[in-house]
Amino acid sequence: MVLAGPTAVGKGTVSAYVRANFPEVWLSISMTTRKPRPGEIDGRHYHFVDDEQFDRLRDAGEFLEWAVVHGRARYGTPRRPVVEALAAGRKTLLEIDLQGARQVRQQMPEALFVFLAPPSWDELVRRLVGRGTESEEEREVRLTTARLELAAQSEFDVTIVNDNVQHASEELVSLMNA
Ligand code: 5GP
Repeated sequence: MVLAGPTAVGKGTVSAYVRANFPEVWLSISMTTRKPRPGEIDGRHYHFVDDEQFDRLRDAGEFLEWAVVHGRARYGTPRRPVVEALAAGRKTLLEIDLQGARQVRQQMPEALFVFLAPPSWDELVRRLVGRGTESEEEREVRLTTARLELAAQSEFDVTIVNDNVQHASEELVSLMNA
């Protein structure tokens, strides 16, 4: 299953909830060239790598998909752990951006593509400002990305509205069980 949706919609919160409450779900850990935020742990939230490491992995074909997100850092899904989790019959969840979701659709069209939507645009802006981890300039970049991402909702198989993290997470997992 691929979970995508606009910035600040709460994808990270939903996947953290799933990680904590549904141990039967295997969550892919992405590689990123961005710096860790306070509280983020290498190997748990992301594998934090530098540009050279990222280039090496990309050139070796180690990514199932990768993308530059918000015009800044690069993010990618390591291919091998996903293939292994699927082979082991695990419920496999990728939380990635829209560009990445499109690449996965090309490579694994049998995946289920889920769009996490905000209850409203105003609520999305409120969450983005409320998080307080980005500068004003960074927020503007992310809102521009979010507008484009919201327009892509129709490309997805299912939409889940994130008005409540627990409900959204339970809906997600019940789709994996279906
Ligand atoms: P953040 O920097 O806030 O953790 O994540 C920024 C964006 O990068 C989010 O939209 C998230 O879904 C996306 N992202 C995280 N990991 C990956 C990945 O492996 N591939 C792609 N394409 N996007 C990712």
